[in-house]
Amino acid sequence: MKCPICKHGETRPGTASVSLERNGAMLLIRNVPAEICDNCGEVYHSEAVTEALLKQAEEAAQSGVEFDVRRFAQAA
Ligand SMILES: [Zn+2]
Repeated sequence: MKCPICKHGETRPGTASVSLERNGAMLLIRNVPAEICDNCGEVYHSEAVTEALLKQAEEAAQSGVEFDVRRFAQAA
């Protein structure tokens, strides 16, 4: 798709690292599927991916970790 931020670039499939903060827990998730703008570098995630990210952040917060680095696990 055309990038809505810079309105010049085209997004391309790739992966990105995403950091999330939830109830004081910091979570860094690697290897997250994303569409990345080839012009400005803006990263876009699909709704399903965003949902899975939030779920993982929730789980991390509940398990009581303060900082965690994990790989993205796509919800089935
Ligand atoms: Zn862009």
